[in-house]
Amino acid sequence: MGVRAFVIGGYVRDCFLGRAGNDIDIVVEGSGMELALAVGRKVHAKVSLFKNFGTAMLHFQGDEVEFVGARKESYRRESRKPIVEDGTLEEDQLRRDFTINAMAFSLQQENFGELVDPFGGIRDLADGIIRTPLDPDQTYSDDPLRMLRAIRFATKLSTPEIRFRIVPESLDSMRRMRGRLSILSKERIVDELDKMLLTDRPSLAFELMDRTGLLEEILPQLCALKGVETIEGKGHKENFSHTLAVLDNVCTFEREAGAEPNLWLRWAALLHDIGKPASKHFSPGTGWTFHGHEVIGAKMVPPLFKGLMMPLNEKMKYVQKLVRLHLRPIALVDEGVTDSAVRRLLFDAGDDIDDLMLLCKADITSKNPAKVQRIRANFDLVREKLVEVEAKDAIRNFKNPITGEYVMQVYGIPPCQEIGILKEYVKEAILDGKIGNNFEEADALMRKKAAEMGL
Ligand code: ATP
Ligand code: MG
Repeated sequence: MGVRAFVIGGYVRDCFLGRAGNDIDIVVEGSGMELALAVGRKVHAKVSLFKNFGTAMLHFQGDEVEFVGARKESYRRESRKPIVEDGTLEEDQLRRDFTINAMAFSLQQENFGELVDPFGGIRDLADGIIRTPLDPDQTYSDDPLRMLRAIRFATKLSTPEIRFRIVPESLDSMRRMRGRLSILSKERIVDELDKMLLTDRPSLAFELMDRTGLLEEILPQLCALKGVETIEGKGHKENFSHTLAVLDNVCTFEREAGAEPNLWLRWAALLHDIGKPASKHFSPGTGWTFHGHEVIGAKMVPPLFKGLMMPLNEKMKYVQKLVRLHLRPIALVDEGVTDSAVRRLLFDAGDDIDDLMLLCKADITSKNPAKVQRIRANFDLVREKLVEVEAKDAIRNFKNPITGEYVMQVYGIPPCQEIGILKEYVKEAILDGKIGNNFEEADALMRKKAAEMGL
């Protein structure tokens, strides 16, 4: 067709990192849609056109190949939507966010596969450096999402061997430009947060957001966890770094268990202590306490989700539940691991008991390794007891053997308060282990209690 085309962006970067995926972006000096249609005819692939964006996509041999025309961009202050004109490859590379994301492979016959790297992306990739091709103030002001992308890439690309760093000029610029986040939609921001949370070591991202002041703009509730207050020589845990340690622990334990990353469990880890600042108290005898922080924290979850335009559905309820219950398993160690306490925990946690146990184990952090070892050993006792009680009593998916309909039918009564009282009485007896979790014993107890009540 007489146009030049290049593979560009993430695919090129990931090739050099040895982790190339299946998303290939092709930039065309001309119409992306027309080239896509021509390629589609040649390889007999169906082409999807996105006319609003001027892009096109086809699937080929397991890859998802996207075509877009090269473009030149200029920005207005109030929006991250640029004014777009057709451009050359060089102009297109200039509008890209980071040097490591601006590299391209030529698809021309005469130099097929040749790297086109105007900003030294390949060197930055080897050195683990994240840097913008243009002046960072301009780059971040034009599209503030790039600040979060920089932090996400620094986190995601870092490995135990090489730590990716954002250059100091960029970090300084983020501090200046943090207020520009206000032009982003909450959905975009949360999308980036989710991706950060799904990396192997999300603490890196939250530390960077904290250092640049972005976190204060996005999740001030987390910043409130920072710092240690000291009275009469007594300090307390630094709850921000503790929270990040718990979050990383969750990721490690998931990996060790060979489990898929659970985004919502990670949100729960991030938010598990947000009730601490409001519950903090010093009393001369005992020192610092955070009594009831799990209840306060659970109450803070819905408004926090709402503020970020996150779903207010069962995911939110799950996070809220884990925040509310996060102390329960470990509290059993002190209160005594009785069958009845374990049954109540199983009843309250239901199917989320395994996630709760993982969070609770992750929550055991201390500078003293012997202490961590000791508490984890006690914690393992709780876990064994849980398995034992669950095998015996099957409380996890507890359904009261006595239903409202059944009570109404037996006594020929309409809906009334007595029904609730009877059901609750039976449930408590089962959880306390006074009777077994079966219909016969439940029915007998119901009839005894009902007689006492004069039914
Ligand atoms: P991944 O898909 O693994 O997150 P990626 O680099 O492919 O990484 P995408 O969001 O898919 O990231 O974007 C593809 C390419 O488009 C990037 O490599 C970058 O060159 C460019 N790009 C994406 N978003 C922006 C942005 N906000 N500003 C400038 N360039 C961007
Ligand atoms: Mg991509």
